[in-house]
Amino acid sequence: MSSVAASSNVLKSEKVWMDGGLIKWQDANVHVMTHALHYGLGVFEGIRAYKTKDGRLAVFRLREHIRRLLDSAHICMLKINYSEDALVEACCSLLREQLHQFKDGAYLRPIAFMGDGAMGLGATNPTRVAITAWDWAAYLGEKGLKHGIRAKVSSFTRMHVNVNMVRGKITGQYVNSILAKREAVMAGYDEAVLLDISGFVAEASGENVFCVGRHGAVRTPSLSSPILRGITRDTVIRLLKDMGREVQEVSFTRDALYIAAEVFFTGTAAEVTPVVEVDNRTVGTGTPGDITKAVQDLYFRVVRGHEPKYADWLTYI
Ligand code: PMP
Repeated sequence: MSSVAASSNVLKSEKVWMDGGLIKWQDANVHVMTHALHYGLGVFEGIRAYKTKDGRLAVFRLREHIRRLLDSAHICMLKINYSEDALVEACCSLLREQLHQFKDGAYLRPIAFMGDGAMGLGATNPTRVAITAWDWAAYLGEKGLKHGIRAKVSSFTRMHVNVNMVRGKITGQYVNSILAKREAVMAGYDEAVLLDISGFVAEASGENVFCVGRHGAVRTPSLSSPILRGITRDTVIRLLKDMGREVQEVSFTRDALYIAAEVFFTGTAAEVTPVVEVDNRTVGTGTPGDITKAVQDLYFRVVRGHEPKYADWLTYI
């Protein structure tokens, strides 16, 4: 069985921030008539906080995540009654209150969704907003982070840009990712790669995709393809450029992954995960490549506060 099973081991915390304040974990409930539960109108984020070199906890690119949450809500016309600053502070207060549990790191999950009241697709009920935090180990497993994972191109396609709003991180859209992920895991792989409707590589079920050619050029699908504008993608592009690497944001086909020297996935949960096999073809040497390892190493140094150059990306608690 894949390492995926281990990553779903959710540990709860004492408090949840909900609709304006901190409440007990067990009180953070919603009614079964919650509109979003029926129709999927919700927006969310996944954010990580890391223990930094001086022992303090810092949230990585918190403001960018909250901005994307607000953008997602704007796309869906879901009205959030909290400002960017208020939501940033809400995330910080949740961690501050529970530092005893989260001193070594945390995963934060802000979510805003249409609450209960009226039913039917035309309803506009008040939006509920909640932020939870828990300990979430490496999403694709520690082994995956170190030695790489096996991916499979999915039979499910990333939706056309007029079907899903690709700039939004919208709850209902994740059924597509769940179908792809389950298919891949049940076939014995760790993760799914979804193609767009023209057959070009789009993204993984919850990660962006990078490949490195034989001559060291790094490629990732452009933002005009149906992909989430990953914050880790953006981070990694910046780090690679600062390392002197060229990064091309272009379309490429699935077989470009087969013949790549290196492939890796990026995401807040998955961090920088090497991919050593795609559709039963060994990628490169079948072990994490040098560029992947170098950027992964730098990524972990940055999020843990070892690189002053990128200190602006950290919000200390
Ligand atoms: N694509 C999808 C579909 C995702 O769910 C995620 C995770 N949020 C990503 C890419 C990576 O985005 P980020 O680096 O901002 O976490």
